Amino acid sequence: MTKSNKHNRKSSIYTDKKGFNYYQTYSFFGSKDGLKKKIQKNLGKEKTSSQLKHEKEYWDNYYNKIDDSFKSTKITKKSSSPSLQNNKTSKLNNNVPSGELGQKWTEYRSSLPLVSPANKQKQEVIIIGTGLAGASAAASMAEMGYNIKAFCFQDSPRRAHSIAAQGGINAAKNYQNDGDSVYRLFYDTIKGGDYRSREANVHRLAEVSGNIIDQCVAQGVPFAREYGGTLDNRSFGGVQVSRTFYARGQTGQQLLLGAYSALSRQINSGKVTMFTKHEMVDIVLVDGHAKGIIARNLVTGALEKYSANAVVLATGGYGNVYYLSTNAMGSNVTAAWKAYKRGAMFSNPCFTQIHPTCIPVSGDYQSKLTLMSESLRNDGRIWVSKTKGDKRSEER
Ligand SMILES: Cc1cc2nc3c(=O)[nH]c(=O)nc-3n(C[C@H](O)[C@H](O)[C@H](O)COP(=O)(O)OP(=O)(O)OC[C@H]3O[C@@H](n4cnc5c(N)ncnc54)[C@H](O)[C@@H]3O)c2cc1C
Repeated sequence: MTKSNKHNRKSSIYTDKKGFNYYQTYSFFGSKDGLKKKIQKNLGKEKTSSQLKHEKEYWDNYYNKIDDSFKSTKITKKSSSPSLQNNKTSKLNNNVPSGELGQKWTEYRSSLPLVSPANKQKQEVIIIGTGLAGASAAASMAEMGYNIKAFCFQDSPRRAHSIAAQGGINAAKNYQNDGDSVYRLFYDTIKGGDYRSREANVHRLAEVSGNIIDQCVAQGVPFAREYGGTLDNRSFGGVQVSRTFYARGQTGQQLLLGAYSALSRQINSGKVTMFTKHEMVDIVLVDGHAKGIIARNLVTGALEKYSANAVVLATGGYGNVYYLSTNAMGSNVTAAWKAYKRGAMFSNPCFTQIHPTCIPVSGDYQSKLTLMSESLRNDGRIWVSKTKGDKRSEER
């Protein structure tokens, strides 16, 4: 919670279970001094009727607020967005925690307030998108106890564009004993991103890379293996170590099927409600926070409203804003644009993944778009002239 929001918050009430007893905590805020009053009641083994009444009032009030906000949300075409108008005064806050680079996120995570298991059951989260990002987020959060409403516009989460990814996924496991480490993966990724990526976030990615592979294997992703049964690696992206985990040329497909299996398990257990063929057309804000969405049911054409405690956008890339793209036609920025129109800020929006086959032909000496598979490049292949003694200049 940011400092300014903390001052806006008036009160909160929550119930914890410690040992065999329930405790109810009321916290009142309201002045610049922050916390004014905190009352903790031991409710005993069972919840009392007054405690249940208070809880009901609290949540009724909360949902009424969301409902009011839905009523005031008009789906109209706007000539320009509020954030466009406020551009001069807006400041982009990347929310990267302070501290030593390698410790920023680790320390931040250790100091975050925890949500008790009993309270997780009461929270609802909307997740837009069920590709690799959305499906795994929905499955993981449901496993933790949150109640999830997941949306995608396709007829099944298995149709997400993640299915198209081929090459593999990097992790600093150092299985090949070729000197790999979290730092090397961090460094290579920063370099590969032309030194424009956020360093702390990339470091975090490198730190958790090994766990991601473990999670995928646990979900049943059939990564390539050596004859002895251990996971195989290949070298990708011009790096000098072999750290890419892959499943032939269809890694994305296998990863998505793994994430989909985990998601299906949670749908079956009732923790995830899946809304396929639903396109998010707007985001509903309450006090500046995303608390709901408006979605179009693509079968009936009806506009529907959904509310939650938080909204996660996992709507994928938007390479189709460019003329040449290997992305599916659905990867077209509509969801991110809605968020932008509601005030979300963009950093480096032109920095999307592109495939070398989409670099336009730049001269008549090129017979087609230039591409050398990364796997060939890393096995030492180089471009050579077709004919011996080619007279073309070096840059051609
Ligand atoms: C050809 C190709 C090869 C690749 N190779 C690799 C590789 O080797 N290694 C690697 O790491 N990465 C690779 N990538 C990149 C990687 O595949 C993607 O970055 C990743 O899969 C994106 O996952 P995602 O879940 O964010 O998005 P997606 O899989 O695109 O999912 C987006 C989801 O959002 C939903 N959605 C979007 N808008 C809305 C809306 N308005 N309302 C409701 N739902 C919405 C869609 O229905 C979908 O479920 C490759 C990509 C391509 C195209």
